[in-house]
Amino acid sequence: MSQGRLILPLTFLTMKFTLLDSIQNKFLMESEIRNILNTYFRDVYETNDYFNFRCNYCGDSQKSKYKKRGYIIKDASGWYYKCHNCGKSAGIMWWMKTNFPVNFKHFISGCLKNKREDEQSQKTEIPVYKNIMTQKKTAHDESSIIKTFKNIMKFDIAVEYCEKRKIPKEVYSKWFYCESGKFRGRLIIPFYNDKNKIHYYQGRAILPGIEPRYDSRKGSNLNSIYNYYLVDCDEWVTVLEGPIDATFVDNSVALTGVHKSFDDELMNRFTKKRYLLDNDKDGRAKSLTLIMNGEKVFNWKKFLKDYECDSVKDVNEFILKNPKGITKLTMDIMNPYFTNSYFDKAYFL
Ligand SMILES: [Zn+2]
Repeated sequence: MSQGRLILPLTFLTMKFTLLDSIQNKFLMESEIRNILNTYFRDVYETNDYFNFRCNYCGDSQKSKYKKRGYIIKDASGWYYKCHNCGKSAGIMWWMKTNFPVNFKHFISGCLKNKREDEQSQKTEIPVYKNIMTQKKTAHDESSIIKTFKNIMKFDIAVEYCEKRKIPKEVYSKWFYCESGKFRGRLIIPFYNDKNKIHYYQGRAILPGIEPRYDSRKGSNLNSIYNYYLVDCDEWVTVLEGPIDATFVDNSVALTGVHKSFDDELMNRFTKKRYLLDNDKDGRAKSLTLIMNGEKVFNWKKFLKDYECDSVKDVNEFILKNPKGITKLTMDIMNPYFTNSYFDKAYFL
């Protein structure tokens, strides 16, 4: 027990426990720590288990400016600071509060904002006809599910899955893996909004024998469109079927599954939208219907021919197989291949 915790006011203590229960807040804390380390420490080393840098209490070794013996340990039961030079140790909240009060304030106000937004979204997400008992139960179930989502970087099986599919590390490092409960054996793809808060998630089975392949957050009136809040609506927004494919396409959103309605009211937010659906039977059939309605769709046949690539079923497969080694579909690459010409319909038969 660090000495700091003993003199914290009670309200702060209660807050601390609820704070650490939330994935959103853990992310806030982690990003605030990175922020501090980038700003005030020159030489920082990070692994999945700790940050290592020169101790800010004792100033670390006087003889060698390269020695760094201050650690932030990312322990599952709570992160803490420890110096192997002066022996100083402190809970992470105390370390931040006493050494970097401005950052700490920033972190706390982020947590409070998360809390307000949570309360707000619970008010709006749950239909009024449900009674109070159901409301409490839904909220409870949801929070106990979220507790089973763990930082993906600790799970080789999930990291390998993402690496094998060439998903950029800066994208998948914000995802999760679940090894117990309802979402056991699934990669959890969170849908972040523009405030770095998760509004939805999709669980994709990666352990063998887990059925169905996809399982998602349950609830009514949830926005299940990936990247919905993160695209530039003044630009063309490219609509895909799956979140993983969307990680390889500039300014794109993903509907979860081709059978989901394309005329969802939510989609009205995008005035300039076009469709890059899977290169399979379903995707082509849907593309044809869209062309008939005057919508722009992606012409896979022409695209694969120009890029001298064998047939692929979706964007991810293209990224893995294309001979030019393209890792992202930029506007420049994609733009020439969208069509809403009636005469191109033969490409989709
Ligand atoms: Zn020290």
